[in-house]
Amino acid sequence: MERCPICRGRLDAEAQCQRCGAELALAVKARNEAKNLTSQAIKLMTDGEFIQAEHLIEQTLALEHSQFKQQLLEFVRQCITNDSPAHHSEIARSHLLVDSTEKIPLLKRISKSFRAHS
Ligand SMILES: [Zn+2]
Repeated sequence: MERCPICRGRLDAEAQCQRCGAELALAVKARNEAKNLTSQAIKLMTDGEFIQAEHLIEQTLALEHSQFKQQLLEFVRQCITNDSPAHHSEIARSHLLVDSTEKIPLLKRISKSFRAHS
């Protein structure tokens, strides 16, 4: 997080806003934790541990909501109801993409292929 969510001012190293003075250390911590849980969840998905992944994604959504995580949750629920080892390599490939804006279309494509095979 480089910008204050309140006033869009710059944040210093201690996550304090230089413009409005808001202390965002807790928000930054929650965000880092959410990121951490999300990447753990994707790792679990590549291992086929979909139910555990679902729990983790639900936790990250409680910490910080995002369109990507919402889609990830829908996706993992599809994986649970329609598990197929053939798709694990595709999920593994999606894990390699760091940018979540690239992950969304990829996950959409994978989930479409799920539906096509069901
Ligand atoms: Zn601010």
